[in-house]
Amino acid sequence: MEYNTFLIKYAEIGTKGKNRYKFEDHLCKRMRQRLKALGDFEVRREYGRIFVVAKSDFDYDEAIARLTKIFGISGVCPVMVTDSLEYKDISEGLVKYVGEEFDDKRFTFKMNVRRHNKDYPINSMEMAAELGGDVLEAYEAEGMKVDVHSPEHIIHVEIRNIAYIYSKVIPGACGLPVGTNGKGISLLSGGIDSPVATYMIAKRGVEMEAVYFNAPPYTSERAKDKVKELGRIVAQYSGPIKLHIVNFTDCQLAIYKNCPHDELTIIMKRLMFRMAEDIAKRDDCQCIVTGESIGQVSSQTTFSLGVINEAVKDVPVFRPLIGVDKQEIVEMSQKIGTYETSILPYEDCCTIFVAKHPVTKPTLEQIKKSEENLVGIIEELYDKALETAEVVYLK
Ligand code: ATP
Ligand code: MG
Repeated sequence: MEYNTFLIKYAEIGTKGKNRYKFEDHLCKRMRQRLKALGDFEVRREYGRIFVVAKSDFDYDEAIARLTKIFGISGVCPVMVTDSLEYKDISEGLVKYVGEEFDDKRFTFKMNVRRHNKDYPINSMEMAAELGGDVLEAYEAEGMKVDVHSPEHIIHVEIRNIAYIYSKVIPGACGLPVGTNGKGISLLSGGIDSPVATYMIAKRGVEMEAVYFNAPPYTSERAKDKVKELGRIVAQYSGPIKLHIVNFTDCQLAIYKNCPHDELTIIMKRLMFRMAEDIAKRDDCQCIVTGESIGQVSSQTTFSLGVINEAVKDVPVFRPLIGVDKQEIVEMSQKIGTYETSILPYEDCCTIFVAKHPVTKPTLEQIKKSEENLVGIIEELYDKALETAEVVYLK
C-alpha cells in the first residue's frame, strides 16, 4: 500500500503542560525544514498529534528516514485515511487496509479505537468490537485471531474529522525538539566520541554550534572535510550546525616551542577550551560540549580533566560521555551513523604534537607555571586564530 499521510507520535513533549505548544511548534518547524527538499508536504497540528500529508510525489523511504531522525518524534505511523466517517466507509477501509498491509494473515490482533470526535454516535468499545468482527469475517479463514491481552498487532482507528487507520509505529529518535533548550557549542574533532556527545546534547533539545581546531599543513584538507562530514551526519538529527574552523597551527607551534613537551596536550586543550568559551559567549551558547570520557587517554584522567576544566571560567562544560565505556560509545556511533566516517585514518592536531610520555597527573600549579612561558607570545596568536576562523553551516 502506498501511504501519503503520517501520524506523528511524540513522547516527552506530552508532559510539558502549558508550554507544550512551544515544543510542538519547534517540532513542526523542524519537520517542514527536513521534508522541504522531498516535495510538497503539509505538516498539521491537532491536539496531541501532528499529521504529515504529502501533496505531491515523494520518496517514501527517504521521508521516513528523515522523520525518524528528528528529535522529539517517538514514532511515525503511516496511516490510511477513510473516505468519510460513515461506519460503512470506515469498515471497508479497514478491511482493505488489513488486506494490503499484511500478506500473511496468521497472527493475533486487537482493535483499538479512539474517538476525538465525541459527537460520533458509536462509543469506542462498541466500535472496536464491531470493526474487529468485520475484520474477522473477512480474514478469519486465512488465520487472523483476536487476542485482547497480548496481540501480535494492534490495529488502530482514530476518529477525528476523518478516520485514520494504522498498525505500524516506526520508532523515532525520541528526545526533545531542537531549539527548546537553548544553544551549546561542541568541540568537534574527527574522532568517534565528540560526534556522539554532540548528538546526545542535541537530543535534549539543544541547538548546536561546533568548533574544530585544525593545524594546516600538519593536518590535511581531508581531515577538515571529515569533521564537516561528521557534522553533517549529526545535523540530520540536530538541524543545521554552525561550525567554526579555527586555524590552531601558530598557537600550537608556540606551545611546542615554549612549554615542556609532556605537558603539550594539556596546555593545548586549555587554550582550545578558552577559545570555545569566547565563541560560546559571543554566540550566546549556554554550554560547551566535549566527547571526553574518564580514563580514555592521558588527557582524560581525573587529574587532567580538572586542570583542563579550570581554563573555562563562565560557561559550564558538559561531558555526556564521561562515564560511558568506549565500546558503548562505538555502538552509539554505529547506530547514529557517524562511526564509518570517524574511523577514517586522518590526522588530528592533538595527535601530531603529542609527546611520547604525556603527563597523566598534571597539577594546576605546574601547568600555570609552564603557561607563563607563553605570556607576550600567545595573546596575539590567540586573537588572530579567533579572528580568522572560518564559519560553515552544516546541514
Ligand atoms: P574524539 O573521539 O571525540 O576525537 P578522543 O578520544 O580522540 O575524542 P581527545 O583527542 O583527547 O579524545 O579529545 C577529547 C575531546 O576534546 C574530544 O572529544 C573533543 O570534544 C575535543 N577535541 C579534541 N581534539 C579536537 C579538535 N581538533 N577540535 C575540536 N575539538 C577537539
Ligand atoms: Mg580525538
